[in-house]
Amino acid sequence: MSSSINQELNPTILPRSGSGCQTQDWKLALRQAITETADLLAALDLERDRLPPLDPDPRPFGLRVPRAFVALMRPGDPDDPLLRQVLPLASERLVVPGFAADPVDDAAADQGDGLLVKYHGRALLITTGACALHCRHCFRRHYPHAAPETGQRRLRAALARLATDRSVNEVILSGGDPLMLDDDRLGTLLDGLEAIGQLRRVRLHSRMPVVLPARVTEALCARLAASRLKPVVVIHANHANELGDAAATALARLRRAGAMLLNQAVLLRGVNDSVAAQCALSERLLDCGVLPYYLHQLDRVQGAAHFQVEDAAARTLLATLRTQLPGYLVPRLVRELPGAAAKLPLRAGDEL
Ligand SMILES: *Cc1c(COP(=O)(O)O)cnc(C)c1O
Ligand code: SF4
Repeated sequence: MSSSINQELNPTILPRSGSGCQTQDWKLALRQAITETADLLAALDLERDRLPPLDPDPRPFGLRVPRAFVALMRPGDPDDPLLRQVLPLASERLVVPGFAADPVDDAAADQGDGLLVKYHGRALLITTGACALHCRHCFRRHYPHAAPETGQRRLRAALARLATDRSVNEVILSGGDPLMLDDDRLGTLLDGLEAIGQLRRVRLHSRMPVVLPARVTEALCARLAASRLKPVVVIHANHANELGDAAATALARLRRAGAMLLNQAVLLRGVNDSVAAQCALSERLLDCGVLPYYLHQLDRVQGAAHFQVEDAAARTLLATLRTQLPGYLVPRLVRELPGAAAKLPLRAGDEL
């Protein structure tokens, strides 16, 4: 209390406006992210015995969650849908048949240097292995990311490879999270992509506008707006509670920069596997200027089995959603099958 009064009285210690300062804001928030389970539980006023058994040492894919995201969780609620997405459970260590390290066979699609081509016209670039928040359901949680020091060299090599493929008109920046690159690195990457004549769009698959909205700086938006490539930003929000005021502001800023905004979610048991949760998510997305795109059936990655929702239940959920929402607010329920030419829709009656 006294410190906030001091700040009001003393404008010299208030943050200055301007992009340089915004950069410091998000980097500071990253450094201050919670990485210890005990700290997270203390912040939420939660006792361990109210939770399923926790993994005492979840590294290398450790706990990681920015404090702004923790602030969106309900204190004292062991079932909080945001908490469940980040909390490392002991059961993640179980070996479950059918759950693999690389469930979508990224390895087979890798043309080298982190350039993945699975579908016609689109190429996906692994830009970094880092993320601001570690999602326990992440299908790339075991991906063999390159060491950061080789990252820039790999990116240049991937761009050279991309330039030789005339069939690709859309590049997808993925990872990890491409917005973990700072504005300088991202700017250099965009320069390289803009020089590839056949590219028309740049798509960013990023959870940052949701989990660390401070990353969406004016400078970032100005760079996207200035690009000759049409920007499409596919965010990743699984629950309406993830989209707080700061995320809404960040998304409005991206829209003003001319970006098309879509959301992909993963269907997660205990997080968003109810009609109410899905309706609330779609409505909140629309409030934020984002259309639902994909609702992914869980990729069967080692460590995520506790999130799985049966296909029959998933189809029933979607069928009900269609009766509750306008068509444009109903996401496409899909599963990725290795080797398929597109993400495959799960329809009533299909055996997939
Ligand atoms: C999911 C994915 C895409 C994008 O597919 P869309 O259906 O266009 O969203 C592209 N490349 C790879 C390797 C992917 O995994
Ligand atoms: S933000 Fe995306 S890439 Fe990063 S841990 Fe979550 S699901 Fe995985």
